[in-house]
Amino acid sequence: MRVLVIGAGVGGLAIANGLVAQGHEVRVFEHADTLRTTGAGITVWSNGTAALRDLGIDIEPVGRRLNSLRALTDTGRLLWEADLREVTERLGSPTVQIARRTLIAEMAAALPPEVLHFGKRCVSVTERPDGVTVAFADGSSATGDLLVGADGQRSVVRREVLGGGPAKPTGWASWQGLTRSDLPVARGHRTLNIAGRNAHCGLIPTGGGLLHWWFDMPWKEGDPVLTVADLRAAFRGWPDPVEELLASVTDDDLGFFPHVRHKVPQVWGGPRSTLLGDAVHAMPPAVAQAANQTLEDAWLLTQYLADADGDLAPRLRAYEQERRPRALKVSRTAALTSAQRSTPLQRLAKFPGWLATRSQVVSLRSGSNVLRGAAPRPAYQAA
Ligand SMILES: Cc1cc2nc3c(=O)[nH]c(=O)nc-3n(C[C@H](O)[C@H](O)[C@H](O)COP(=O)(O)OP(=O)(O)OC[C@H]3O[C@@H](n4cnc5c(N)ncnc54)[C@H](O)[C@@H]3O)c2cc1C
Repeated sequence: MRVLVIGAGVGGLAIANGLVAQGHEVRVFEHADTLRTTGAGITVWSNGTAALRDLGIDIEPVGRRLNSLRALTDTGRLLWEADLREVTERLGSPTVQIARRTLIAEMAAALPPEVLHFGKRCVSVTERPDGVTVAFADGSSATGDLLVGADGQRSVVRREVLGGGPAKPTGWASWQGLTRSDLPVARGHRTLNIAGRNAHCGLIPTGGGLLHWWFDMPWKEGDPVLTVADLRAAFRGWPDPVEELLASVTDDDLGFFPHVRHKVPQVWGGPRSTLLGDAVHAMPPAVAQAANQTLEDAWLLTQYLADADGDLAPRLRAYEQERRPRALKVSRTAALTSAQRSTPLQRLAKFPGWLATRSQVVSLRSGSNVLRGAAPRPAYQAA
C-alpha cells in the first residue's frame, strides 16, 4: 500500500517505522527543511517504550531510565515519592527520559533514506474512491492509497479532512530547556517535581549529563514571554536546586511552549485518511502523555494496517474507535490538571492517584506486546 504521512515529528516517524517494517511503500512529508530537533526532553513512559520497542526502536541506550518520581511543595515538604522500578519490572517496559532531538534522530535513522521528504508543506487534501492526493506549498503533489496526518497541533490535514480550527490555548505555558548540568539530579534516575500555589517546575535527568528542566506558569496571548531573570525572581526561595539551576542557565537555553488542547473528534479522517498524535488530541503536558499517546496511536494503527487489503475505511474507523476513549481520557486528565480551579500544588498532590488509577500510563498487558488492558497500580509512598 502507498502511504503518505504528513509531518516528520514523533508520530510521523513512528508510524513510518511501523509501516515500512510491514512492507508498505511509505513517504513522509515534512514542511521544515530538515528534521525539527529543537525542544527539550520527552518522558517516554512504559506505554511509550513498549510501543517503540514493537516499532523496532530501543531508546534506553540513548536516554535515561527513570526509577522514581519525587514531589515537593515549594516550601520543601515531601508530598510523595513514586517508585517506577516496580512498574517496569511488572510490565517489562521501562520509563525513559530522552532528548526530543535524540528520539527524532533515532526514529529517522531507522528509516530508509528515500522515505523522508523535507521542504514539503501540505496545503490541501483531496480524497477520491481510488486514492488520496496531497498538494504542497511548492506546487508539487503526491498521491497514495492512504494519508496519515501527523502534522501536530496546527494540523492542516485535520482542517482539510474534518474542518474546524487549531488547538486552543489553556492559559498556561512552559519555559523549558535541556542543558548540561553538574547538579546531582542530572546524574541520577529520579525526577524532581515542585509545585506552589501558582507555579510548578520539574527537573528530569535525560542521560549524558543532560538535565531537562521546565517551569510552568499561567500565560495568555499578549502576556510577556518571561526571561531567565524573570524566572529567577518568580522562583526565588524555592527548594534546592531550583535557584542553583536558574543561576546556571541563560536566555539562549530557554524554550517557550504555550499549552494547548484540541477537542478529540468522534471520527479522525475520511475514506482514505486518518490522524494521529497532536493533530487529533493535542493536550497540555500536565501528565507528560502527549508523545506517549502519539506512540500508542502509531502502534495501534500499524496493527490495523498489517494486512490491509480491500476497503480501508473500516480499518481506519476501528483504529479510531479503539484509540479515542483512551486518548480522550488522558486528554481530559491533562486538561483537569491544568485547570485554573485548583493550584499546581493541589494537582501535584493528586498525581500519584491519577498515575495509579486513571493514567493508562502503564496499561499494557505484560509480555503480550499488546498495549491494551487494565492499568496496574504503580507503587508509591504518600509522605
Ligand atoms: C520543534 C518541536 C519541539 C518540541 N519539544 C517538545 C519538548 O521539549 N517536550 C515535549 O514533551 N514535547 C515537545 N514537542 C511536542 C511533542 O513532540 C508532541 O507533543 C508529541 O510528540 C506529538 O507528536 P506529533 O508527531 O503529533 O507532533 P509533533 O512532534 O509536533 O510533529 C508534527 C510535525 O509535523 C510538521 N508539520 C506541521 N504542519 C505541517 C504541514 N502542513 N506540512 C508538513 N509538515 C507539517 C511539523 O513541522 C512537525 O515536524 C515539540 C514539538 C515540536 C514540533
